[in-house]
Amino acid sequence: MAGTVYLNGQWLPAAQAQVSVFDRGFLFADGVYEVIPVYGGRAFLLDEHLARLQRSLQAIGIDGNDAPSWPTCIAQLIAKNKLEHGTVYLQITRGSSNQRTHLPTGSLQPTILLMTQSAPLHWGTPVPAKAALLEDIRWLRCDIKSISLLGSILLKQSAQEQHAIEPMLHRDGTITEGAASNYFGVKNGVLYTAPANHLILAGITRNWVLKLARGSDIEVREEAFRVDELSQLDECFLTSTSREVQPIGRIDDIIINSGGCGPITQQLIEAFHNSKRHHLGMQ
Ligand code: PMP
Repeated sequence: MAGTVYLNGQWLPAAQAQVSVFDRGFLFADGVYEVIPVYGGRAFLLDEHLARLQRSLQAIGIDGNDAPSWPTCIAQLIAKNKLEHGTVYLQITRGSSNQRTHLPTGSLQPTILLMTQSAPLHWGTPVPAKAALLEDIRWLRCDIKSISLLGSILLKQSAQEQHAIEPMLHRDGTITEGAASNYFGVKNGVLYTAPANHLILAGITRNWVLKLARGSDIEVREEAFRVDELSQLDECFLTSTSREVQPIGRIDDIIINSGGCGPITQQLIEAFHNSKRHHLGMQ
């Protein structure tokens, strides 16, 4: 990430943006974030991302009242960086005091950072990839989009060692989500995904894909599928802002749909691309 960033009301070259060593984001990972997709120079599903940001802020008790107008700030950031396709990264920490204490003291001024990352826009079907089944070692408030990501990093590293693109996490015998994605399984024409509770981050892409599926008359059940059911899945895919809809052809040594992209996954990939086309056409 480079270019121009927004930091606490200022527009700065990335190399000149600095925060205090006492910032609670730096010392405690005491903050939340969002990653918002940008297609054709415009943020996609922005209202949904901003609503989730408010929920995260509220959950950890950061007052977002002094924040800038997000849609204006994001549009300015995109324009300043001439971003066509990519993502906006938005992070808010609780701010800094002049000593390191676990409990925040006094009224702190939150630290607000926005920056961009570019990515090519693709319209094809991604090659089905491998997921690694791993125990979910993270905390029990996965519904908060916290910048405290050590658990996710360790899990991603384990998955990478197994040549998998993403861990598939399980807790008490059921699949929760990925380290940075949500999982879907298809069985007998029914689409399953874990319910939106404290064990997962309900992805904006997850929710959008559920909406697309319901609009295509695909039967949807927000029920977690079990580890011992994985070998019976007809199809599997994951969703996230950066990966959109990614087919999964293999989970450890379990091959799904002969390792290919299944018909319902394909249908949802096309529906997702169509919704992007619609978004691009609205400019
Ligand atoms: N779960 C977790 C734990 C994540 O970190 C992410 C991506 N940030 C997701 C799911 C997918 O969310 P989204 O579709 O909003 O990118």
